[in-house]
Amino acid sequence: MACMAAYELSWITDNLALGHAPMSYAELDSIREQGIGAIINLCAEFCDLHEIEQTSGFEVYYLPVCDDDAPPEPELEKALDWLDEAIYLGKKVLVHCRYGMGRTATFVAAYLLRKGFALKLARKKVAEARSMHSSFSQWRLLRKYSKKSGKLTIREPSLENRRVVDLSGFFTDCRALLERVDTLFEEASEKHSGLLSCGSRTDGCCCNYVELSFVEAAYLSHHMNKVLPGEERRQAIERAVQAAKAMRRVRKSLPSGTGLAGDRRAELEAAYSQAQIRCPLSVNTQCVVYPFRPIACRIYGIPRDYLDSPADIGRSMRAPGEDHVPSVYEQFLVARQKISADMWYALTSLFPQEDGLLFALPDVVSGRFIQQYFEWLSRAQNSLDAAP
Ligand code: SF4
Repeated sequence: MACMAAYELSWITDNLALGHAPMSYAELDSIREQGIGAIINLCAEFCDLHEIEQTSGFEVYYLPVCDDDAPPEPELEKALDWLDEAIYLGKKVLVHCRYGMGRTATFVAAYLLRKGFALKLARKKVAEARSMHSSFSQWRLLRKYSKKSGKLTIREPSLENRRVVDLSGFFTDCRALLERVDTLFEEASEKHSGLLSCGSRTDGCCCNYVELSFVEAAYLSHHMNKVLPGEERRQAIERAVQAAKAMRRVRKSLPSGTGLAGDRRAELEAAYSQAQIRCPLSVNTQCVVYPFRPIACRIYGIPRDYLDSPADIGRSMRAPGEDHVPSVYEQFLVARQKISADMWYALTSLFPQEDGLLFALPDVVSGRFIQQYFEWLSRAQNSLDAAP
């Protein structure tokens, strides 16, 4: 029986590890299994290893440095920017050279200096991971860099932007809800032939006006940042900014009014599709975040009468004395609203005041929805302050 090669990572922080150059697919599998999603490869001597890492599904930054050498400072800065962004986006990053010693130690120490560690502390931290710079040029680079970046610190500064609130429980609930919607789609496909899943077998929904609840927006944004490599993510954001501009032009062209209820919503949806504003996550008719797409995309194509049929649990959802039996679709909306409201409360300690907390898809991809979240938060706080 083939033995799985375990790759030993030396963790510097929760999100940053160092190690040697992986020399087999089994080692790459082991790295992935330990949660690493991105790699900074410093090996000038293995000129195709970074491509193998990339095709194995890692996001890779290649900064070729010869053994015992130090990278030029501008190149180092660029790579450190990339590392900063990857960690900010919640990725776990491996830095490696051939043996995980000199070049790796120099690079990781420079990162720690940039984070405010004193030179002595930075060197101690990488030495604990059994790594140390090994040449005069590496030592000189760190000295120079420490004068520029380092500050004497008494206690270790924080390295990560830890979330104050852990959202993973809300994401688990969101995932479970999305799976229920997928089950409904499968049931509907058995009864209605020709139903095609949008984002994969058709892109029929990808020029529609799509709104996401608060939890769907956070869930999609979180996974988009995790699964899309840097360049693809930047291109998606750029497309989202353009789509959002086109969306606002469409909104302006509608008769003035507030909110998006009833006819006004129908008008916006019709004008949006007519303007052919393509979803920024649709590339060559395929959804680049297919497993994480929102409910609106998952129900695309399901006949309306099927969505409007009474939910099995409809009766138990009714308040005493209420006649209305929720439909299958309403049941999903209620569930996603409940998870969103719980998440809002966990983040803000305020009960949601706004109806809905809904975000247009381009605003979620561009990241603008965070600004909208803060606007809502500020309104909620103001109304609380104004309350007698
Ligand atoms: S999220 Fe995916 S499936 Fe939904 S509209 Fe965008 S590309 Fe299409």
